[in-house]
Amino acid sequence: MAKGIIFDIKRYAVHDGPGIRTTVFFKGCPLNCQWCHNPEGIEPMPEILLNQNRCAIDCRACVSECPQSAISKIGTTVYIDRGKCDLCGDCVESCVYEALLIAGEKVQAQDVFAEVEKDLVFYDESNGGVTLSGGEPMLQLDFLDNLLDELRSRSMHVTLDTSGYAPFEDFERVSDRVDLFLYDLKMMDEIKHEEYTGVSNAIILQNLKELVSAKKPVEIRIPLVCDVNDDESNIRETVHYLNDLETVRSVSLLPYHKGGCEKYIRLRKGERLKNFKPPSKDRIIQIKKTFLEAGFKVRVGG
Ligand code: SF4
Ligand code: SF4
Repeated sequence: MAKGIIFDIKRYAVHDGPGIRTTVFFKGCPLNCQWCHNPEGIEPMPEILLNQNRCAIDCRACVSECPQSAISKIGTTVYIDRGKCDLCGDCVESCVYEALLIAGEKVQAQDVFAEVEKDLVFYDESNGGVTLSGGEPMLQLDFLDNLLDELRSRSMHVTLDTSGYAPFEDFERVSDRVDLFLYDLKMMDEIKHEEYTGVSNAIILQNLKELVSAKKPVEIRIPLVCDVNDDESNIRETVHYLNDLETVRSVSLLPYHKGGCEKYIRLRKGERLKNFKPPSKDRIIQIKKTFLEAGFKVRVGG
């Protein structure tokens, strides 16, 4: 059985597919979107996060506990030498103020299944189920494969939230056990896509076409970031592209929010923070109208 690394399990989610769902967040993503609000999901390995605001002035418990001497405290500021840290977790245990956290845990599919199974009654009552998100679930294919088998053994509804950036053979391997794909489309211009996400969108667009041709249920999710992808030309091009995919009739527009900013600081990646903004309310209404007029069912937020 393959082990996987996940960084969160969120229960009672209502925006990650139909009904009430439990969302499992896989760690590791082949994209590196500049606006990502789950920065702890990008690196494939566990990482330590420090919330300096929670740190008590006269405490030094983590400094004394660390077997690698990877933590120091100068004045009121805690410093972690990430080169020395082996992620043993002793500092997290020692911090009664919960200022330290390790994002990312090695698990087996049965562990995750045991957790999500607890809410089976909610899935049954609401036609909900389990959503696999991230990060990018397709990056941990063997673990994903095992987990899908477990979920299918109890006939749970499975939604897979994906960037689409994986070989199509990988999608073929899992798609018979996925009920719905939530497929992220960032922008249509390849050069701009590479600039903002670190990768070309060619394989993403091609995989979407192939999934639709294979008659897999797909809903599109579009993050909307002001002055990045909310321009008329990108929206028109996206509508035009989706119009050719007959079975794709549902789009979620996800305006940028600053929810992940604090996590960059906690990961000591503050230099990556950019001053992104969501489009204005009027612009979001216009974009929604464009999709509605083209015959799409549109939801804003999620
Ligand atoms: S144990 Fe927690 S509160 Fe104490 S110094 Fe370390 S981070 Fe701060
Ligand atoms: S996780 Fe372990 S090695 Fe890393 S800083 Fe904490 S105590 Fe030290």
